Amino acid sequence: MPIPKRQRSPLIRKYLNVSRSAQPEARRLGELKPVEPAARREGLPVLGDDQVYVLKYGTDYHTTWCQVVADTWDQAPRRLLVTTLAAVGARTRCAECDQHAKAARTAASQEYHQQTRPTPEPPPDVVVPLKVIGMAHGILFLAAGQEYRERLKETAVEPATPLYVDGRRDGLVVRLDSAHDEPLLLVQLDPRATFRNGPYQVRLRHPLRRSATKPYAVESVEYVKTAP
Ligand SMILES: [Zn+2]
Repeated sequence: MPIPKRQRSPLIRKYLNVSRSAQPEARRLGELKPVEPAARREGLPVLGDDQVYVLKYGTDYHTTWCQVVADTWDQAPRRLLVTTLAAVGARTRCAECDQHAKAARTAASQEYHQQTRPTPEPPPDVVVPLKVIGMAHGILFLAAGQEYRERLKETAVEPATPLYVDGRRDGLVVRLDSAHDEPLLLVQLDPRATFRNGPYQVRLRHPLRRSATKPYAVESVEYVKTAP
């Protein structure tokens, strides 16, 4: 199944329309010292250890391929620079990247917790098949069938919900949108992850917190291995 790269549905474009801030006082935050990115994947700069993204006139730095970075790459790629964390000057980490970092730390500590003190997990309730409907700027758009809409309306996405590909954590589930007939799951791929086209599935469970407002939460999204 080929992925339409250039033709984005209005639905996808809606998610990419995020306001950007470009402030000229960025210079005061410290001189930019761009470095070569550790690698490039389809032209896209991939960060190495201790590398971050900065925007030419930006006041933030970015540790993930967040919306701001993705939009800049899309609209003004020459403004997207790579530098080292040591050279960010007075720039602060962008809010979205900060959230990703916190979520990753939470996930790591939860993993540690589960390894050291195994607690009985509630049995998985539901597995819903997903199909790829698009991929743009590191965001993977997965759709579930209409028949799952009611169930997914009752499902929340908790922080640090992983995407698993062959048992590896390759991204984070960022949003579940059941406002349409076909509910959509949005997954932010890690920049180093390789996109796999094919069937995916979402696994639901009960929420971790008792105070949760919805009866279900996303346990994980998984790439479904198919027979060769
Ligand atoms: Zn960012």
